[in-house]
Amino acid sequence: MVPHGICILRDNGPMERVEILIIGGGIAGLSTAWHLARRGMTDVLLLDREPLPGFYSSGHNAGIGRQLTGKAEHTALTVSGLQRLAEVGLLEPTGGLLLGAEAGGTAALAREAEAFGLRAESGPGSTVAGLRAEEHLRIPSDGVIDVDRMLAVCAEGARSGGARLRFGCAVRAIHPGAEGFEVETDQGPIRAARLVNAAGGWAQALGRLAGGLDLAFQPLRRHLVWSPQPWPVAGPWAWWADRPFYLRSESGGLLLCCVEEEAVDLPPRGQQPPNREGILEDLSERLKELAPDLADLPIARLWNGLRTFTPDRRFMIGADPLNPRLFWVAGLGGHGMTSGLAVGDLAARALAEGAPTGHLDPARFA
Ligand SMILES: Cc1cc2nc3c(=O)[nH]c(=O)nc-3n(C[C@H](O)[C@H](O)[C@H](O)COP(=O)(O)OP(=O)(O)OC[C@H]3O[C@@H](n4cnc5c(N)ncnc54)[C@H](O)[C@@H]3O)c2cc1C
Repeated sequence: MVPHGICILRDNGPMERVEILIIGGGIAGLSTAWHLARRGMTDVLLLDREPLPGFYSSGHNAGIGRQLTGKAEHTALTVSGLQRLAEVGLLEPTGGLLLGAEAGGTAALAREAEAFGLRAESGPGSTVAGLRAEEHLRIPSDGVIDVDRMLAVCAEGARSGGARLRFGCAVRAIHPGAEGFEVETDQGPIRAARLVNAAGGWAQALGRLAGGLDLAFQPLRRHLVWSPQPWPVAGPWAWWADRPFYLRSESGGLLLCCVEEEAVDLPPRGQQPPNREGILEDLSERLKELAPDLADLPIARLWNGLRTFTPDRRFMIGADPLNPRLFWVAGLGGHGMTSGLAVGDLAARALAEGAPTGHLDPARFA
């Protein structure tokens, strides 16, 4: 008797078998696994090459729950994603403060808020002492995401729903065939009927291996800085719409970001991309202009992560046009945490029922 999940495919021993193999244990893969489990699809195995969930972008972000993205198809998912985060207690409802250094700097965002029916309060100045702005747009329903708990909730939800999660297991090669894929991992081969590419910065490499689109994804580095400087305002976060800068309170101090985008090589297993020299000088310049009282603040931590984009900077969710057994949940760029729970739900509906993914369908790159 062959145990469930094992089939004999080769003379040299049994091969593990699964209906849906998800590659990537960041928010894209974890949320998809959780939402598949919620739909009763439990013959699911998620692999990640690193020992922990969210080792890369999903564990190195700012945790800002900002709904307005400038792209309607993304904002639909960030609005829904944030609502889901709030419902499961993963959002601190601080509100969000979008600032215009120049008059009119927040106008496009105000129009977007109206189009989505999001409550927004606008007015002159920043409303926060020490932050320079001509105008502000406050979104009361924005907030700060509990990133660690979000990853844990998705992982636990997937596990308790029946999915298997395996960390520290890298995919080395993929052999696509008529019935699915034979996947070589460093813990042995796996046969999967369907494959989900949720590999973040490595999505292009995985897509190519799986016989799908060979798309030029762009992994772009962005740094975050933490200062122990006490910040009197617990919330909301402040993000300049017309300047590359945001900050928010974090752990009794300040989290700051120069909103830069830098092409870098993907890091080897177990490592993060190196920090760039000069980033603190950039921060100092930004502070002199936008928050001069903070220009000399002490810095205690500097780190970075990758924001990975498709060529048109739209998320890529749906079946591959070249190999329909391959499914993409990739290119989440800078909105993966805010949209993550809605993205996982959309991906699970598309996988389970063939729900359309509209402008995010990979077919646009065929
Ligand atoms: C500095 C910074 C700030 C950000 N701030 C915010 C924010 O405030 N709000 C927000 O909503 N979003 C933010 N983001 C964006 C958000 O973090 C990303 O959109 C999201 O984390 C992407 O998730 P992912 O699962 O696609 O990728 P990842 O988290 O990178 O996961 C991909 C996984 O695939 C695995 N993998 C790759 N290749 C293999 C292989 N061969 N075998 C096995 N596993 C493999 C990797 O180990 C990795 O764990 C920020 C990002 C950065 C970098």
